[in-house]
Amino acid sequence: MTVSVVWFRRDLRVADHPALTAAVERGEAAAVFCLDDRLIHGRFASGPRTQFMLECLGELRASLEEIGTTLHLLEGRPEKQIPEFVEMIGATELHFSRDLTPFARKRGEQVRDALEGTGVEMVAHDGTDTVDVRPIATQKGKPYTVFTPFFRNWEKVPRREVLPVPKEAVQPADAPKPAPIPTLADLKLEQTLGDPPVGGEKEAHRLFERFLSDGVDRYTEIHDALGQDLTSRLSPHLHFGTISPRQIEEALPQGEGPEGFRRQLCWRDFYSHVLYHFPDNRTTEFQQRYRKGFGWSRNAKAFAAWAEGRTGFPLVDAGMRQLLREGWMHNRARLVVGSFLTKDLGIDWRMGEEHFMRYLVDGDEANNNGNWQWIASVGTDPQPAFKRIFNPALHQERYDPEGTYVRRFVPELADVPDKFLAEPARMSVEEQEACGCVIGRDYPEPMVDHKKAREEALERYRAAKERESSA
Ligand SMILES: Cc1cc2nc3c(=O)[nH]c(=O)nc-3n(C[C@H](O)[C@H](O)[C@H](O)COP(=O)(O)OP(=O)(O)OC[C@H]3O[C@@H](n4cnc5c(N)ncnc54)[C@H](O)[C@@H]3O)c2cc1C
Repeated sequence: MTVSVVWFRRDLRVADHPALTAAVERGEAAAVFCLDDRLIHGRFASGPRTQFMLECLGELRASLEEIGTTLHLLEGRPEKQIPEFVEMIGATELHFSRDLTPFARKRGEQVRDALEGTGVEMVAHDGTDTVDVRPIATQKGKPYTVFTPFFRNWEKVPRREVLPVPKEAVQPADAPKPAPIPTLADLKLEQTLGDPPVGGEKEAHRLFERFLSDGVDRYTEIHDALGQDLTSRLSPHLHFGTISPRQIEEALPQGEGPEGFRRQLCWRDFYSHVLYHFPDNRTTEFQQRYRKGFGWSRNAKAFAAWAEGRTGFPLVDAGMRQLLREGWMHNRARLVVGSFLTKDLGIDWRMGEEHFMRYLVDGDEANNNGNWQWIASVGTDPQPAFKRIFNPALHQERYDPEGTYVRRFVPELADVPDKFLAEPARMSVEEQEACGCVIGRDYPEPMVDHKKAREEALERYRAAKERESSA
């Protein structure tokens, strides 16, 4: 009988898990997860995201125990821990879900090197992205750098079958007793969110069911409506794989709303494809012309005002405060705060990317990097910079016309009349006093003049283009 190990990473579920199913079908199957310090305390360390992950691990262990095996936690570098574990239980196969991020690929190669000569076979399976995005290519055999043609091709990729939870797994006899799952405090991290999302596979399915019954049919109309807040909220679950994107896709009904939603799943795959083919994007602008001499600001004071939601632009402040409270931000607000940081303040998109990674429970290197480069107008799927400089006041009037979203996160604006809510500094002193929101005392002055900041931003992009053409 074959003894296998399933190496869980960003696929913390038992339903629709090709690697788990394969291992269970082959014979005895043990499951492991590596608590790798590079992820827990590294470049993108995050208390909120780690807390969510620990909840997912706890539930995954319980689910695996229900079917007859368990989850072993290994502490340390996978290239050391996994070969030791594999040898201890006498496994000959290591199954895992393919993860295309540069970090995950390197980690996998190191494990492969460490297993060389041991006779243990490493078997990669689908399961992290909706489809295998590696072979998707243009007619010239190149990777896609524009979304819409990628989407057309992505749609044509044959889909794999969705798998049920394996009925029964057999734990290898030599498997040790699993160590307890640590708490966040054990890992010396802190939960900073007041209203965090709940981790685990059950919660992912509950959210998806809720979205299927209320949200998906109207998705095209409502996905930008900040106050209604009817998007799926599945992003942290998709990041940690407590629900499979393929299973989501398969369960979607017909119709315009579900189609629009499926397109969003494709954006996720697109950025996975982009980072797979352009791993340098992790730290560098995809578009060469913006790499050197662009003159990004790193103004700490302005950055802090943005990060803490004290810019004097209500929609920007609401978005940033939602992030600090919930570890999630509505996509429309992410776009507005991203545009504000990189265009109005001219601050390096990498600072925004890092801040998002610290607080977002769905913080995902491919999605976050791809979207930051997109909104900073330096990445793939390019458009002229002026198309992605958003006017926060106009966006607020359009996407939060009743002020529900802004008032929820910026309580000092609660009694500001609707007509001034997008630009409270336009109120007279008497009006400010009357609604209990004095600008400069209760709520900040706008930190920039948007019109002027827009012109200055356009000039920076124009100059970069000129430098390139004269080089
Ligand atoms: C500056 C910026 C940073 C972002 N950082 C992240 C991040 O770190 N992690 C992350 O998952 N998303 C990120 N996004 C994309 C998007 O904002 C979130 O995926 C979405 O808001 C999550 O909410 P939801 O699950 O309710 O989305 P829904 O609207 O219900 O969409 C369903 C799923 O589709 C995917 N999706 C939707 N929009 C996008 C998109 N623009 N790009 C890629 N995938 C998308 C997500 O997996 C999402 O869960 C970022 C967007 C911006 C503008």
